[in-house]
Amino acid sequence: MNLIFLGPPGAGKGTQAKRLEDARGLVQLSTGDMLRAAAAAGSPVGLLAKQSMDRGELVDDEIVVSIIGERIDNADCQGGFILDGFPRTLAQAKELDALLDRKSLKLNRVIEIRMNDGVLTERIIGRFACANCREGYHDKYRRPKVEGVCDACGGTEFSRRDDDKEETVTARLGAYHAQTAPLLPYYRERGVLSEVDGMAKVDAVTRQINKIIDAA
Ligand code: ADP
Ligand code: AMP
Repeated sequence: MNLIFLGPPGAGKGTQAKRLEDARGLVQLSTGDMLRAAAAAGSPVGLLAKQSMDRGELVDDEIVVSIIGERIDNADCQGGFILDGFPRTLAQAKELDALLDRKSLKLNRVIEIRMNDGVLTERIIGRFACANCREGYHDKYRRPKVEGVCDACGGTEFSRRDDDKEETVTARLGAYHAQTAPLLPYYRERGVLSEVDGMAKVDAVTRQINKIIDAA
């Protein structure tokens, strides 16, 4: 089962992808995570990407397509994957079609996580993660069960993303509406698009996604 999660920043793509990874053995492929790792490693491509990320702008298609192309070749993707945050432009969607064709892989479903823009700022500003295992939390919606201790690994260090700031949220939402939203009609016309209500509670969103996957 190969899926795409589409939706604005903060919609819950990563949260839901992690749950599916655990429940169904699919691999989460987050271009945002890959770009942050490249930036942290200090590679020339990573540092270039970081400049765009810090401004809340999209990274060049060429860079992102090459990163994802290499990653999909890994053996762990054979059992199915969830693309989280890719594609984000029509050019990337077309490159993905070509990539999947070359590898004789099918795109089973594109799941749009729909959200009202107004709630997204709060979702993004409140987001933090375990510095050790990257388990995701939120100041208001998902705090660790024991304050200061990661539920998943017991780690006690947490971090916030450099781009999860009020100043960049507007730019990131603008990029979503201008460059990524046009992918919705692109996939709808191909009959592969399904929608879920991202405003619902995390468990309710997971149930909606599971229904779609079971019917696919
Ligand atoms: P995305 O990957 O789409 O940018 P995340 O999965 O990182 O979004 O979610 C953004 C923040 O909102 C995280 O802090 C997460 O814990 C929280 N969150 C995710 N889904 C929900 C939900 N359905 N209700 C409330 N908070 C949520
Ligand atoms: P995300 O982790 O998905 O919220 O992405 C964080 C940032 O990484 C985005 O604001 C972009 O700057 C960059 N990014 C992630 N995925 C892509 C992509 N598919 N195309 C272009 N830029 C991307």
